Amino acid sequence: MDGLVRREKTDASHILPDYIPNWIGGEETSAQEDGVFEKRSPHNGEIMFTVARSSAADVDRAVMAAKRAQFSWAQTPPVQRGNILHKVCNALEEHQEAMARVVARETGKSFREALGETSGAIALGRFFAGEGQRLYGRTTTSGIPNRYSMTVRQPCGVAALITAANTPIANVAWKVFPALICGNGVVLKAAEDAPATAWLFTKIAHESGMYPGALNVIQGLGPEAGAPLVLHPGVDVISFTGSTTTGRWVGEQAAKRMAKVSLELGGKNPFVVCDDADLALAVKWACLSAFSNAGQRCAAGSRIIVFESVYEQFREMFVAATAKLEVGPSDDDDLGPVINERQLKNMLAVIERAQEQGARILIGGGRMTDEAHVRGYYMSPTLVEGATPQAEISTCELFGPIANLYQARDFEEALKLANDSPYGLTACIHTRNLDRAIEFVHRVQAGVAVVNAGTYGSEPHVPFGGLKQSGNGTREPGTEALDVYTELKTIYLNTDKDDNV
Ligand code: NAD
Repeated sequence: MDGLVRREKTDASHILPDYIPNWIGGEETSAQEDGVFEKRSPHNGEIMFTVARSSAADVDRAVMAAKRAQFSWAQTPPVQRGNILHKVCNALEEHQEAMARVVARETGKSFREALGETSGAIALGRFFAGEGQRLYGRTTTSGIPNRYSMTVRQPCGVAALITAANTPIANVAWKVFPALICGNGVVLKAAEDAPATAWLFTKIAHESGMYPGALNVIQGLGPEAGAPLVLHPGVDVISFTGSTTTGRWVGEQAAKRMAKVSLELGGKNPFVVCDDADLALAVKWACLSAFSNAGQRCAAGSRIIVFESVYEQFREMFVAATAKLEVGPSDDDDLGPVINERQLKNMLAVIERAQEQGARILIGGGRMTDEAHVRGYYMSPTLVEGATPQAEISTCELFGPIANLYQARDFEEALKLANDSPYGLTACIHTRNLDRAIEFVHRVQAGVAVVNAGTYGSEPHVPFGGLKQSGNGTREPGTEALDVYTELKTIYLNTDKDDNV
């Protein structure tokens, strides 16, 4: 790691090897069939490195390694597990510039944004390391004399963690730290668009004393490496972050063998602007909700619902603010490229169909083709007007810098539009009226409801998750994540007062 520390202030090219391997049993290993796939830079389309293209055989090795290590890891007292995770956090902090460079390089987001994401991941790690000193169960009363009743938390066993690439270091930390503090053996299936982040995280973890084999990483493509992990009978709990389509399949497979499963899925999140809103503030947050991280957030605000009486004014301000956004990979830019060409083409196709159905593009609407952007996967920040609430562009998550505007007569119509979605992840309202705000947060169908800010944002100690097609009812992180990664055992202790006292 010395090389990392010395040179990390430049860029990430020196940190990244030409080939990103798996981590199995504490060792870097290639895929058994020697397969590789190429990872391309979202900024210029160039090949950055090749990656282990794992298959079911590699998954099996990783699950077996996790199973072998899990017994000893679970026997390590939780406080000591927490101490090890604190050391991992210290090392991540020491190397956070290097980590952020890698995140920035593989996603195309700015270093500034990647650094913020990395420090959030470390804060999350510290929160769960601290849980080693708690991991509370409960004691309770009993109806039977001389009986003590209590619950304790026990690890599930082997945890399969499958992540998306949009905020790669946050996504990895979000699952790995709680799974480990609870005493599980982990097999992390890295996102194929952010393999180096998972690789470097695990390298840092191992070099700072992580128990070998407790944390394994499988690189590869979803159907080839993710699916065998979901189907593996040695996996006891699956935590999946990704699209609703894949999540539904994961949930079905888990149900067939009664495996525990946590699904963190997509969103099409409403952002309501009332007639009494501070419009400048609303525009600022609408821009951030729709376009930050190039709209690649499950919590992105992609349905902007505005009261009729302020619609024209808001639209004018929103279009003007969107026109000022700088697009590129530097710290001065507001948003970067989307993660891959497939995603970009998917968005362009949906926009074309929306226009055929009568929607109008207020700004943006296409791939950026100027000299600075043409080689990358850059989508121009896009605002769409006139789509019906039932249209494809209104109901499908696009995971890019695209937002639709809708008009609502009043609060009731705005709330109805907000709830008219297959998803229910996050929601936001801008109003100065406390009664309206409270009515909204109570009645909106979302796992997270926000007043006068953006649709996104989460904190390590606060649960996050969605309703409807956005998840299956679990919540991560916060202490609620402990419910995902542990099983509760009820214990009764009976004493025999008459004979022994
Ligand atoms: P995706 O479903 O295509 O892939 C997500 C992960 O699943 C990847 O690692 C992929 O390799 C793997 N995968 C794909 N097919 C699989 C299969 N058959 N079995 C097992 N694993 C498989 O999603 P994506 O497009 O990469 O990510 C974007 C999605 O993630 C969006 O829908 C976004 O809303 C969602 N997301 C949700 C949250 C949340 O907390 N709710 C956070 C971030 C992203």
